[in-house]
Amino acid sequence: MKHYQHFINGQQTSPSNGEQIEVVDPSSGEVFASIARGNASDVQIAIVAAQNAFEGSWRKFTAAERGRLLQALGRAILAHQDELATLEMRDCGKPWKQANNDVIACARYFEFYGGAAPVFHGETIPYADGYSVLTWREPYGVTGHIIPWNYPMQIYGRSVAAALAVGNCSVVKPAEDACLSLLRITELAHELGFPAGVVNIVTGYGKEAGAALVQSPGTQHISFTGSAATGAWVSAAAAQRHCPVTMELGGKGPNVVFADADWERALPSLVNAIIQNAGQTCSAGSRVLVEKSLYPELVKALSQRFSALVAAAGQADRDLGPVIRASQQARIQEYLGLAPELIAAQGSIDASAPKGGFYIKPTLLKDVPITHRLAQEEIFGPVLCVSAFADENEAVKLANGTEFGLVAGVWTRDVGRAMRMAKAVQAGQVYVNNYGAAGGIELPFGGYKASGHGREKGFEGLYGFSQLKTVSIAHH
Ligand code: NAD
Repeated sequence: MKHYQHFINGQQTSPSNGEQIEVVDPSSGEVFASIARGNASDVQIAIVAAQNAFEGSWRKFTAAERGRLLQALGRAILAHQDELATLEMRDCGKPWKQANNDVIACARYFEFYGGAAPVFHGETIPYADGYSVLTWREPYGVTGHIIPWNYPMQIYGRSVAAALAVGNCSVVKPAEDACLSLLRITELAHELGFPAGVVNIVTGYGKEAGAALVQSPGTQHISFTGSAATGAWVSAAAAQRHCPVTMELGGKGPNVVFADADWERALPSLVNAIIQNAGQTCSAGSRVLVEKSLYPELVKALSQRFSALVAAAGQADRDLGPVIRASQQARIQEYLGLAPELIAAQGSIDASAPKGGFYIKPTLLKDVPITHRLAQEEIFGPVLCVSAFADENEAVKLANGTEFGLVAGVWTRDVGRAMRMAKAVQAGQVYVNNYGAAGGIELPFGGYKASGHGREKGFEGLYGFSQLKTVSIAHH
């Protein structure tokens, strides 16, 4: 069994308390490795390493040189695709195809932000005669990145690559359930020539290592991706020392299907939007809202699809894998127990799936009232709620009827309606006649309402990891 360490200042580093946390394979429930249980002193050591790199070696790199290194890391990630996908499949229970998609997406973030680094710049402002005014986009210094377990590689890619591109140095705290691929990628970065300390990983629990990263005066920016409840705690703690935060939180994404839509074309997207990653996606399409006249036909078609879905071990590469851990499995079962009478269809668990794995039958719930907990709360499992609406007004009301506002889909052939809906829906991303659960490296992403604030992904992501300085020069 392998015992993983932190990765600090360019090397494997043992936890100062000598403690490890067991790593469980969600497909089988078996312990197969352990990670270091980081505490505040480990976090402090990593922050000092990042500060030294920021004030020393990393500062000497031009934007073009930083960009070249980031792109090289993108290529190295692809060159190690098999190894990284295998780690991710084992660590998170992801089906093989999804694990590979995550590796490719992570590589794309490093390529994208590597290319963007030298073209990200300030402006000159026409102010008054005898003055030149310009703006600089400067790094914060040490950025802290707190990452959840559902898409470790993608979220590491989108936030760390953007932070490094603008010249920050980073300390990353991955989720305790999903660290292995990130430790390997960070090691690869240093093998390629990233100076020691530019990116560091401290593994461990949120309340220990994560909280220390948020509270330390040594981090000048925190990017948090996780649940709304933890996000509120992180925001409050960071506010005590006026540390800026980006909050990428949960969602309850609606797919709104009008009767005029090409719904047969929509069908695979509606299913995939919730089945991908076993429903453990912040931007999952976890609700389908259907115009009344189409409702019976669409529920029938969705039921047929759901009945045919199969959950199996990651290696079997079926429709979906297990969920991340036993407590998550129990939580989803509890939600399903709230209203068994609403179950319209359920898929199956493959006979070959190991008995100790954390599997959930993909489940379709129909006629779910908007006020029901099932329609309001993020279940974070392969559970789709379907409800009917009478007209466009009611569609908007239902789509906006939760505390969340991350991603929404609108399906219609009427361009005017599509534009009205896109305007009326409160969400950071609106897809018309498509749906991008966790998609789009180039597309700015982030929440309205309780889904968070700040934006990552795309060129926009660079703004969040930099601060603007205005310089006014008088020459009269
Ligand atoms: P979580 O909030 O429990 O944990 C997220 C991370 O925060 C983990 O690394 C955890 O160790 C750490 N953490 C926990 N307590 C902490 C504390 N007190 N201080 C600092 N860090 C702490 O969330 P989760 O269960 O790991 O992830 C699922 C949630 O993440 C869902 O709500 C999902 O929607 C959300 N999510 C959002 C996005 C997005 O981009 N908007 C992407 C993926 C997941």
